[in-house]
Formats: sequence, structure tokens, C-alpha cells
Amino acid sequence: MKVIVLGSGIIGTASAWFLNKAGHDVSVVDRQPGPAQETSFANGCQISVSHATPWANKTAPLTILKSLGREDAPLLYRFRPEWLQWQWGAHFLRECLPSRTAYNIRQIVAIAEYSRQTLQAVRAETGIDYHCLTRGILHFYTDQREFDNSLASAALMRELGCARDPLAVEEAIRLEPALASIRTQLVGADFTPTDESGDIHRFTSGLAAKAAEQGVQFHFNHTVTRLITQGSGAATRVTGVEVIDAEGRHRTLQADAFVMAMGSFSVAMLKPLGIPLMIYPGKGYSATYPILAPAAAPTISLIDDGYKLVVSRLGDQLRVAGTCEFNGYSRELNPTRCEAITRRTKELFPTACDYDAPTYWAGLRPLTPSNVPYIGKTKIANLYLNTGHGSLGWTMGCGSGKAIADIVSGKIPDVNFRFSGMPARAVQLATSTSDTFTASGDQRT
Ligand SMILES: Cc1cc2nc3c(=O)[nH]c(=O)nc-3n(C[C@H](O)[C@H](O)[C@H](O)COP(=O)(O)OP(=O)(O)OC[C@H]3O[C@@H](n4cnc5c(N)ncnc54)[C@H](O)[C@@H]3O)c2cc1C
Repeated sequence: MKVIVLGSGIIGTASAWFLNKAGHDVSVVDRQPGPAQETSFANGCQISVSHATPWANKTAPLTILKSLGREDAPLLYRFRPEWLQWQWGAHFLRECLPSRTAYNIRQIVAIAEYSRQTLQAVRAETGIDYHCLTRGILHFYTDQREFDNSLASAALMRELGCARDPLAVEEAIRLEPALASIRTQLVGADFTPTDESGDIHRFTSGLAAKAAEQGVQFHFNHTVTRLITQGSGAATRVTGVEVIDAEGRHRTLQADAFVMAMGSFSVAMLKPLGIPLMIYPGKGYSATYPILAPAAAPTISLIDDGYKLVVSRLGDQLRVAGTCEFNGYSRELNPTRCEAITRRTKELFPTACDYDAPTYWAGLRPLTPSNVPYIGKTKIANLYLNTGHGSLGWTMGCGSGKAIADIVSGKIPDVNFRFSGMPARAVQLATSTSDTFTASGDQRT
């Protein structure tokens, strides 16, 4: 079957890889000159299954209220005259109910765990070098109340099979000596040894190159303007995508099936087809610094709970990422937010990096209110979804690609996840923890 994948971020590229493996004739279309040039370019780089907690939890509304008007707040909601943003906000509030959070966390952990195993298999098969580190993730806390609250999330994660062990301050510093300079600030940490980190852009580019070797066709510099449909009601089918190519020519690319993987931009593309997606862009920042003193830079990937920053070592560079701003689709860099990242990184690792040479970047997380992505079918039989992976697209990317390839091929993916447009499987909800669970202090960036 001829399949067109729309978007070549981690999600589109992983989808194309597995669709090709399943025997389909695959093309990928992207407006950028190469793969992983938008949100999959310079993120926090964590494969973070055991911290895969949704942002929507019972403490989130207060956190958002407190951050209103604070330019350097880690989480900033700027109210706009935009219906989607208000609608999204209302859905987000619903997902903050403890029972919803507990359901969402199980969904996320299921697909994230499946995805980590899939990534490991792809890595073993392809040998792609992406500065992968399998030394775990250390989440450190500087606020006693947040640390105490995090123990409940840690317990829930353990219940779901994730190794997540609380550590005392000295144990945390023994594990990651680069934290010694903030010893007096620390109140505790937890460590998830099976989590990983690695450069999403290097991986996605490597996978796209391997996929091209296997016969996947990439149409870069092609902007999709619309999906063309034929028929009505249940007989509606997508027959092609209209694109503008690098020379400005309008063309139509045809296929038997289409996979939507355009992140935050999936919404506008599917709205004319009567497929409403609840995805809003959550703008995040990263800073990448050259490492000057390797022994002073961390080798374990970190989460700085107080500042909602993640830190990953990528070869001779240090990547620090985080913050979230709900403010439309602009990727413009706000100097106040960039400087806040550098200020904190300098405080954490004063001698590790050249702080005069940061590379700042901003990307749009395709956020659903629940943090659970849309993977599966739509009301149009030959149009599929793989989008809305929010703050965890790298963590869930390879598994989502493998799952959509199964679905397009008429198979049921081997993971207990609620796929869109498909009958629900028995997703277990442990009522014992749903009432007591709090995700406070455990939001991934
Ligand atoms: C600051 C930050 C830190 C993060 N840290 C982590 C982390 O540590 N771990 C983790 O798991 N996740 C993290 N994420 C989330 C992760 O980066 C995203 O979930 C993931 O990159 C989304 O991938 P995607 O393929 O859906 O979107 P994208 O990578 O944005 O891909 C979508 C593609 O669609 C293309 N496109 C859009 N519109 C059109 C059009 N009209 N025509 C043609 N092409 C089009 C774009 O060019 C793009 O290539 C972070 C995100 C941010 C912003």
C-alpha cells in the first residue's frame, strides 16, 4: 500500500521507518529542508518513562495562577482571544481531577515503556550514534513540600513497574558529583535507573537516512496546504495532499493511506475535514552550552524540580531545557526566559560550561490537555493520527511509530493503550491509588 506520512519530526520519521518495515511504499512530506527541524530539534533529550507524569494534576491550576504575569515563570499561560486556547484550558482543568490524572498516567507509562523498548531495539538494529546515555535520570528537589509530595508519584510509578527510588541528599551527590555545588539547596532526590537520554535530532536524522536507504522517499521543502477528500459520510476518503514545493509549484501527492504527524500544526490541517483535535502549542526553551570542564558537568540526565528544567549531556555539550508558555504558535525567543535558564545552569554547574556561548532555541510541544497523544484511526478510513505527544514525544516516539504501522497494516499493537478511533482495551485503573495520587513536583518539561 502507498502511504504518505505528513511531518518528519521524531513521530513522522519513526512512523515511516516502521511502515516501511511492514512492507508499505512510504513517502514523507515536510516543509523543512531536513528531518527534525522543528520541535524534535533541540529538546530536553530525556527518555523519561518513570517521570512520565501528565502536567494536568490537582496542583496545576494553582501553579498556573501563581505564574500569571511573571515573565520568567517556568509555566506561563498568556490569555489570548483564541477559541482553541480557552477550549483547551477548560479540558485541561478537567484532566486535573485526580481520577483523570491516574488514568492518564497509566496510559502514558504504557506507551512510554513500550516505546523505550522499541527505541532500544532500533538502536541495536541500526547502530545510530545519538549520544545515548543509559545512566538513568536523577530528579532533584529543593523544596521539602514538593519532595514529600513526590513520594506518592514515586510509589505509583513503582506500582506500574517503573524503578523509582527516593535518595537522600548525600546519596544523590554520590551518584552525580556535579550536584555538589548546590548541596545546601537540596532536600532529596529520586533516581530512575532505567531511563535514558540522547540527542533527538541526531537520532531522527540518522533514522531518516536509514529509512531513505530502505526506499522511503522524503519530500523536504514541501509545505502541505490541504488534504483532498472524495466522497461523503462513511465513504469519505483522502485521495491526496496538496503541497507547495521548493520552487513554489502547487502539486498533489497521492496515496492509499495518510498518517498525520505534524505536531501542533495537525489541528488546522484536519479541522476542514471535521476532525477536531485538542492540541495546543506549549512553547519551551532550551540552551546548549559547550562543555569546558568535563569532570564538572553531569553525566546522569537530571530534572531540577524547582525550576522545571531538564539537563542532558550530549557528548561535549550540555543541553538544558524547560519552561512552558501558552501563547500561540510563535517560536520567537524571549531574552528574559533564556537568561533565566543560563542563570540557573551557572548556579548548578559553575565551572562546567562556556556560559558566554549558549545556543538558545524554542520549540512548540504539541500538547493535549491530558498529555496522552492521539494515535490511531479517524472517521475517514484511510486517514490516521500520530500526533499530540506534548512534552514526551521523544519518550513515546519509536513506540508510537511502531503502533501506527501496525494499525495501518490492520493489526492490533502489542501495548495496552487507548488508541484513537479503536475499541478500548481493558485499561486497568487501580482505584486504591487514584484518590491519593498527587503529581505535584513531578511535571516533565
Ligand atoms: C523545550 C522542550 C523540551 C522537551 N524535552 C523533551 C524530553 O526531554 N523528552 C521527551 O520525550 N520530549 C521532550 N519534548 C517534547 C518533544 O520534543 C516533542 O513531543 C516531539 O518533538 C514532537 O515531535 P513531532 O514529530 O510530533 O513534532 P515535530 O518535531 O514538530 O514534527 C512535526 C513536523 O511537521 C512539519 N510540518 C508542520 N506543518 C507542516 C506543513 N504545513 N507542511 C509540511 N510540514 C509541516 C514540521 O516541519 C515538523 O518537521 C520537549 C519539547 C520541548 C519544546
